[in-house]
Amino acid sequence: MNKPLNSIVIVGAGECGARAAFALREKGYEGEITLVGAEPHLPYERPPLSKEGLAEGYGPKHVADAKGYDAARIAVITDAIVEAIDRAAKTVRTADGRELCYDRLLLATGASPRLFPGQPLATPQILTLRTHADAAAIRSKLAPGKVLAIVGGGFVGLELAATARKLGAEVVLLEGLSRVLSRGVPEEIAAIVAERHRLEGVDIRCNAAITGIEASAQKVNIALANDDVVVADLVVVGIGAVPNTALAEAADLAIDNGIAVDETLCTSDPDIFAAGDCCSFPLGHYGGRRLRLEAWRNAQDQGTLAAANLLGAAEPIVSLPWFWSDQYDLTLQIAGLAEGAETTVRRDLGDGAFILFHLDASGRLLGASGIGKGNAVARDIRLAEMLIAAGKRPNPQALGSNETKLKALLAA
Ligand SMILES: Cc1cc2nc3c(=O)[nH]c(=O)nc-3n(C[C@H](O)[C@H](O)[C@H](O)COP(=O)(O)OP(=O)(O)OC[C@H]3O[C@@H](n4cnc5c(N)ncnc54)[C@H](O)[C@@H]3O)c2cc1C
Repeated sequence: MNKPLNSIVIVGAGECGARAAFALREKGYEGEITLVGAEPHLPYERPPLSKEGLAEGYGPKHVADAKGYDAARIAVITDAIVEAIDRAAKTVRTADGRELCYDRLLLATGASPRLFPGQPLATPQILTLRTHADAAAIRSKLAPGKVLAIVGGGFVGLELAATARKLGAEVVLLEGLSRVLSRGVPEEIAAIVAERHRLEGVDIRCNAAITGIEASAQKVNIALANDDVVVADLVVVGIGAVPNTALAEAADLAIDNGIAVDETLCTSDPDIFAAGDCCSFPLGHYGGRRLRLEAWRNAQDQGTLAAANLLGAAEPIVSLPWFWSDQYDLTLQIAGLAEGAETTVRRDLGDGAFILFHLDASGRLLGASGIGKGNAVARDIRLAEMLIAAGKRPNPQALGSNETKLKALLAA
């Protein structure tokens, strides 16, 4: 008979780690739970940091308050970096000298902003945006008339651009490729987003090749290959994130664009699991294709699944990728994957809102991407996700016509 589990340690007190800790209790686990995080806060929501989180006086929006952790008997250790795992002794050691024993370990270490090659570190006018502290530092420098240069036209950069415009700052956004949102967002939708930013006064420059960034006491000069120089009060680099794998690597766990886990989130050590932004995983629905997602719902879903599997359930990942982004009054939502699609069908929902459905050569629905004001696309994206999960091959004409309810296609 298996020995009962007495101690589960979770490294990384973010969305995923916190969700896993509560899910362990919800699933009836009675042993010790220790959640260790490098940041000085209880786990908090990251999505607001590029949105309302940049408003004056914003405090982090916690996943749960201290009473919630106490009630669930979850010991949270903040401000503590786990710097080593001893897999033979089944212990982890923190930088401040604590040693924690585990029967099972979950790594939910998340990701860190990718830095620009040669990006000077610890320069107060050149920042990245990942933590509450980053958001507070950016906020303190944004004011009407200040110039913010954003390097990178991905989600974080564009959301920050929208928020900075609301705060009255001038915004120049430098994108190295020929369009914004080139990763995972169809061109038709990216074009609408870019156009809206231009209308709001954001100076978007695509194909921008940065040749140097130089900071003086007050300003930052960004030199471009076309001899332009952008002079900014603040530069925020938003060119993606890299998974935090150093701890796992040092413990000789398999790495493959993140901590490599199997379909049950188990690493190459049967007592260590990984989940959320830090891991790459095979997704059965797409033929076992290995993915790494940086998305809020994925962090939650994988936290819940990791809890079940830490307790021995061995359940596979079934959740599909899903992501949203808010910019001005527009919301984008993406479900599934568009890669590998042969055909795209557009469905107009009125008031400029629409969804693009991505189908493979056999007509199977692989993904759906939508844009509209507020929650205009939310319900249909939810139904699209159900069609994708069910492996449906909907009639393209019906899919494209707003006359046919998606619910009916699900039942077909
Ligand atoms: C600005 C911003 C806006 C976003 N907006 C959206 C959005 O609109 N929609 C969406 O779907 N997603 C969004 N996301 C993504 C979403 O927030 C992440 O996918 C989610 O937070 C990932 O959760 P996680 O727990 O896996 O990792 P994280 O939230 O990164 O948490 C990991 C934690 O582990 C800690 N840690 C790492 N290593 C150690 C160690 N060795 N010892 C101790 N602690 C450690 C880190 O300090 C961190 O606190 C956004 C992200 C950012 C940064």
